[in-house]
Amino acid sequence: MSWKILAEQSIVDGKQTLTEDDIRSMVGAPSLAEEAEAEKRASRNECVCGVINCSDEYAHTTSGY
Ligand SMILES: [Zn+2]
Repeated sequence: MSWKILAEQSIVDGKQTLTEDDIRSMVGAPSLAEEAEAEKRASRNECVCGVINCSDEYAHTTSGY
């Protein structure tokens, strides 16, 4: 899903009324910053709970912690 394209569709009279982050928060998607943060965690193999190589990562990722 490209939120950027949706944001560009909000352009009225040459002015963009919604930013990509606006769209993301409207649909409940993670913000750009949150997504970058999640990607950084994933590249370190870090669980959402902050533990690297967490043994309960599947449960933490799917149901929170
Ligand atoms: Zn965990």
